[in-house]
Order: sequence, then structure tokens, then C-alpha cells
Amino acid sequence: MRAKLKELGEEARRALSQAESLEDLNGIRVRFLGKKGELTQILRGMGSLSAEERPLIGQVANEVRAAIEEELALKNTVLKEQVKQQKLKGEGIDVTLPGTPVPRGGKHPLTLVLEEIQNIFLGLGYSIADGPEVETDYYNFEALNLPKDHPARDMQDSFFISSEIVLRTQTSPVQVRTMEKTAPELPVKIIVPGKVYRRDDDATHSPMFNQVEGLAVDRRITFSDLKGTLGLFTREMFGPNTRTRFRPSYFPFTEPSAEVDISCVMCGGKGCRVCSHTGWLEILGSGMVHPRVLEVSGYNSEEVTGFAFGMGVERIAMLKYGIDDMRLLFENDLRFLQQF
Ligand SMILES: [Zn+2]
Repeated sequence: MRAKLKELGEEARRALSQAESLEDLNGIRVRFLGKKGELTQILRGMGSLSAEERPLIGQVANEVRAAIEEELALKNTVLKEQVKQQKLKGEGIDVTLPGTPVPRGGKHPLTLVLEEIQNIFLGLGYSIADGPEVETDYYNFEALNLPKDHPARDMQDSFFISSEIVLRTQTSPVQVRTMEKTAPELPVKIIVPGKVYRRDDDATHSPMFNQVEGLAVDRRITFSDLKGTLGLFTREMFGPNTRTRFRPSYFPFTEPSAEVDISCVMCGGKGCRVCSHTGWLEILGSGMVHPRVLEVSGYNSEEVTGFAFGMGVERIAMLKYGIDDMRLLFENDLRFLQQF
């Protein structure tokens, strides 16, 4: 029996030296030390031993058991460390793998065009002015030479909040607001980007749209300054070969007034569907500041003159990018916006 036990101890040691995983170890533990394990089986036979032999064999059995348990514990530590190292290796970061793409935002076409307009005029020494979108009747109409009974008010179907408060129909009220603050200092050279509101809604009109207003007031400003400035602007905006045409027009707050056309950006002036075969596209309104507007703003119209112009940012964007429906600019469809 003693020999059997010794042999068992050797066998257990061999098995342990070949164990490669924690599962193997567990198998060995069950095989030798478990309730139905080999050591237990041998000890069951102890009943047939004599009283003298029993404690001696018992001692050997305990020694073998202790030896196996010690070896098991040792091997267990080694294997656990191996598993840990393996795991750490697997968790290493492979810096050569491509990253997860993060969708990036872009600028709206209207923002792009507005920034371009602003940059052109900032380069000409203009500064950017701002004013309220909810405006008084006085600044939106009256100060701009549009008294309450003026028929030209009908050209700007308006959203009234009350009889004296209106959603501004143009950025022009900021002309008067700025001149009031600046007068009698000279010069005034501002552009005014901002939202305006009119009661229109179709493929080329929106109840809310963006305007950029321009105003230059100083001594000896003439109509040729206006032509030179807008000519430069259109060439910067639409390309060096762009031609400009001034047509007589009417605005209550400028005199004389002119609509400004550019040679068609699609056909270069030969005539096409976009320009209704005229070769020209209307892009903005302009004129010399009406003496009455200068006077109500605190300037002496005998001494100073000025020019003003206003353009729709949506219209400029549509012409520049060949967009045929203004509503695309407000629908925020990513398939459209991602093209810019
Ligand atoms: Zn054309």
C-alpha cells in the first residue's frame, strides 16, 4: 500500500508537470484528490490494515496529499500569471488600425456666401453693423422716407406685431440707426448682414431671408464711387469677367436709384434659360442716399453724400452655386448640404 501511495504521488507530479491550463489543473485535482479520486480510493482500503500499520500508512497518505496540494498551488500561480500575460498581450493597442470615422459638420452655403461677401467689404475698409429684427415702424419705414401713406410700402408686404412694431422688411433701418450714432463724425462705412421678413413664399421667395446692406457716407461721395465699389464686388464674387449693368429704378430712400445686373453666370451673357435669354441677372438694388434720410439721421445733406445698396444673400448663393429652388436652402437636407 505504501508503494501504491508513492506511485500515486509520482503520477500526480508527472500529470502536473504536463498541465497547460487551469482546466487541466482542475482535472488533476478531481482525479487525485476528489471524493472519487485515486487517493481516496486507496485510503478506503485502509480498513483491512492492522492497527500498527494504519497510522503509518495514514501518515504516508497525508504526506502524499500535502505534496500534491503544494504542487497544485504552485502550478496554479504559474498558470494564472501566464493567462494574465496572454490577456495583456491581446489587449495591446494596434496604432496602425484605422480609427472610427466621426462625421464632421460643414458650413451652410448661405454662411459660405455671407462670409465671402463680408470679406470683400472688410477688405475695402467697411465694418459690420447689426440691428434689431423686431423694428419700429419709424426705423423700418418712416425714417427711410416711407411715411404711413406711402404706396411703396405695398412693395414690402409686412408682418406687423402692432401698428408701430414690425418684423423688419429690410436691413436698411440699421443705416439710420448707425448714422444717428455716428453723426456728425465721418465717414460711415458699414455693411449690415441680417435676417429680414416679408409675406412671400414660393420657389424664389421665402418669408424669411438674409440681406446684406451697405452704406458709405462721406464728403464728395459720388455715383461713380458706387459703380466702382459694386463692380469690384461682383468681379470678386462671380469672377473677373463679370460685367455690371446699372438700370434706373426707384427706392424711396435713395435718389437716384438703380437696379444692378451682372452678366449671366450661366451663359456669360449670350442668353439662356436662367437669364430668360437676356444675358443679364438682377442681383441687387442701390442708389445715392436720399437727402431726407441723411437729414433725419443727423447729417447736413448740403455737405455730405452717400451711397447705399442691398442684396439678398439667398439670391447670390443661388446664382453662385446654380441652385434653382430657394427652399433647398432652408430644408436642411444633408444630401443637399453635403455638396458644399
Ligand atoms: Zn444666361
